[in-house]
Amino acid sequence: MSTMTMEQRLALNKYEVDTEAHIRLKQDVCLQCEARSCLYVCPAECFKEREGKISFSHEGCLECGSCHISCGPEAIEWSYPRGHFGVSYEYG
Ligand code: SF4
Ligand code: SF4
Repeated sequence: MSTMTMEQRLALNKYEVDTEAHIRLKQDVCLQCEARSCLYVCPAECFKEREGKISFSHEGCLECGSCHISCGPEAIEWSYPRGHFGVSYEYG
């Protein structure tokens, strides 16, 4: 059985990062949100809290859909990256 950490496993993945974000937050909803579940459900830690605001970076997104399920379309515009962009999984 492999003893690799989550960080080591994630480092195996390859990303073709699109300049256009495939996930967008609706900041007016986020500002009213107390749960901030995005900080806990995203395995890639794409969401950060800074000075009371949530920031998001799509570059390390694993396309798992957890944030979409957690927040719903009222808070997040969610789609897969365009064309050949996004993550390619490597299993080690
Ligand atoms: S992304 Fe979702 S969980 Fe995070 S602050 Fe916005 S509404 Fe709340
Ligand atoms: S789809 Fe998954 S990896 Fe991508 S931002 Fe949402 S929770 Fe994070």
